[in-house]
This record gives sequence, C-alpha cells and structure tokens, in this order.
Amino acid sequence: MTSPNLTPKCSFCGQRDNLVDDLGFWLCPPCRATHRKFQCERCGFQWVAGISTNPENLCSDCSMRDFIASLDAQKLEVVREPLGEGSKIRAIWEARQLFDLSLRETVDLVLFLEKDEKMAIEGENE
Ligand SMILES: [Zn+2]
Ligand SMILES: [Zn+2]
Repeated sequence: MTSPNLTPKCSFCGQRDNLVDDLGFWLCPPCRATHRKFQCERCGFQWVAGISTNPENLCSDCSMRDFIASLDAQKLEVVREPLGEGSKIRAIWEARQLFDLSLRETVDLVLFLEKDEKMAIEGENE
C-alpha cells in the first residue's frame, strides 16, 4: 500500500521522524506515548485518539446510538418531527428545551438524527 515516494508521517501530528507502525497507523514516539489506536468493539471502526478519551472502546456513532437509546422516546419524536420537515434549527431548539445537553451535544445529536432520518427515507424508497 505504501508508495515508495511517500515517507509515512505520524497519523496524529504529521511529523516523519522515528515513526512506529501501530497496527496500520504511523505514530511518532511522543504521540505514541499519549495516543493509541482504538477499534470499536461493536462495528469494527478504527481510529487514533488520546489514550484517555474513549475508555469504552466504542466509536462516536455507536456511543451516540447508545446515548439516543437512553433518551426518552417521546421527546425524541418531538425532535425528529421538525427534521422530517427539513428544519434542523427547530430540531436543535426543541432538543435544547427537552434534554439537559450542551449546545455541542445537542448539535451532535440532531446531526446524527438527521443522518438516521435520511437513511430511513432512502430505505423506504427502495
Ligand atoms: Zn506525532
Ligand atoms: Zn462503532
């Protein structure tokens, strides 16, 4: 896979000295000390991140699914409804009223629901 003209660079900071191949991800020694490769134990997605960031070994999509499953289904419907009408702003506003989340978490949630919604619509049209 590696092209002879391209020296590998650290997947995290981009430098090229003394790299270590961490199961398919190049990392330099300082990054290696603070980062590692993760693999989602549910869907198999792989990524490199800070050692302390994701103790559960779930990718952001799978963690989001768990999080959504923990939310009140009726409230979720209220957030999904404006999404069905294409109004992301209203969905974010509703989610802000209904759930105790930071703005960033709210936006993440709504974007994920929107993606889910699109996939559901595409599935129906088959
Ligand atoms: Zn590095
Ligand atoms: Zn996953």
